[in-house]
Amino acid sequence: MNYTHPLPAPITVPMVGSDLQFPVHRIYCVGRNYVEHAKEMGFTGREPPFFFLKPADALVVVPPGQTGTMAYPPMTQSFHHEIELVVAIGVGGKNIAAADAARHIAGYAVGLDMTRRDLQNEMKKQGRPWCIGKAFDQSAPMGPITPAALVPAIAEAEIYVQVNGQDRQRSHIDKLIWNVAETIEHLSAAWELLPGDLIFTGTPEGVAAVVRGDTLEGGITGLGTLSVKVV
Ligand code: MN
Repeated sequence: MNYTHPLPAPITVPMVGSDLQFPVHRIYCVGRNYVEHAKEMGFTGREPPFFFLKPADALVVVPPGQTGTMAYPPMTQSFHHEIELVVAIGVGGKNIAAADAARHIAGYAVGLDMTRRDLQNEMKKQGRPWCIGKAFDQSAPMGPITPAALVPAIAEAEIYVQVNGQDRQRSHIDKLIWNVAETIEHLSAAWELLPGDLIFTGTPEGVAAVVRGDTLEGGITGLGTLSVKVV
């Protein structure tokens, strides 16, 4: 086979506890999935979950024990962190019932849904797509994937992010408006999930801006930490 240009390198995330790599297909993200974050964004009440996507090559995969780097993106003065539980899909499917969702999950990871908040807000105001605010280069740092069997209590885990050692966001996964299983039910009604899909499940309250030189350290109980510096 001849190609017009070299095939892109596969995008993969290491699995904890083995030498396996998880090849990434798509990145789905859930909007406003914690009550207190929805409030800080100006919304109340339980609306059906809604979704947006990031390109797979927006990932910044940070190996365990290392500090990754992400470039401060262009066109923004409001580069926000959103710490999130990431669900890795190992078994695909359509119209997956929440009760069956667990068998579709390969594992979990710590991720950051980095956001150009000023651009996202401008797009919201104009009723335009969020892509420029959400789906830019290096907008999705994440750590390794821990197999689901190793984190049976993920639903009760704590989630947090610190910037330069100071707390910015701290909450619990049980505060999700739509839990992981319900999110998979809704998402798989709209798209056929495939092995390799990642779901960023939403962020708790406390989103705020970072600047060049800041180091973010996020964590979720049982999944270790994710450390990334803005350069
Ligand atoms: Mn988010």
